[in-house]
Amino acid sequence: MITRSEQRHAQQRALEYLDRAGVVMTAEEREQIEVSDFGLSKLEYFGVQTLTYFNTDRICAKQIVLFPNQICPEHWHPKVGTDPGKEEIMRVRWGLVYVYIPGADLEPAVRDRIPERKEHFTVGKEMLLRPGDQIILAPGTVHWFQAGPEGAVIDDYSTTSRDVLDEFTDPDIVRITKIVD
Ligand code: ZN
Repeated sequence: MITRSEQRHAQQRALEYLDRAGVVMTAEEREQIEVSDFGLSKLEYFGVQTLTYFNTDRICAKQIVLFPNQICPEHWHPKVGTDPGKEEIMRVRWGLVYVYIPGADLEPAVRDRIPERKEHFTVGKEMLLRPGDQIILAPGTVHWFQAGPEGAVIDDYSTTSRDVLDEFTDPDIVRITKIVD
């Protein structure tokens, strides 16, 4: 849950990041930044700001903004009917992003960078992405990511996105963010 004022503040802050990264948006798009707190009510720690350019029956493109050290919690994109699940390519445009995938346990230093709810992070193979670096996440791959100390702007390309069906390791996460006045 976030308040309307927190939402507006985060949208404004995300726009500043997008402008700094040189992202070109229409006036309408500038009003459409989605702020997600994953139901944890700790937006500074756990959250993403997203601008979806399009999401058709086959493909999707988004811009993701992360504030300094903000974490997108561990999740995967499950199979839906005949769709094997979302295949996702994250390409960093500005800032630093640490992406974690299966293949290793979490290093103590990584665990230290997770401010709370550490028990809900299980995959620890680290890929450090700088501007121009990208990672392809195959359908079903468990992943989570965290911005570096300055925040980050990510170009996110994928097959159809169905955010509400994403599955999270943390059982307390809900994908729809509740906004209160
Ligand atoms: Zn994902």
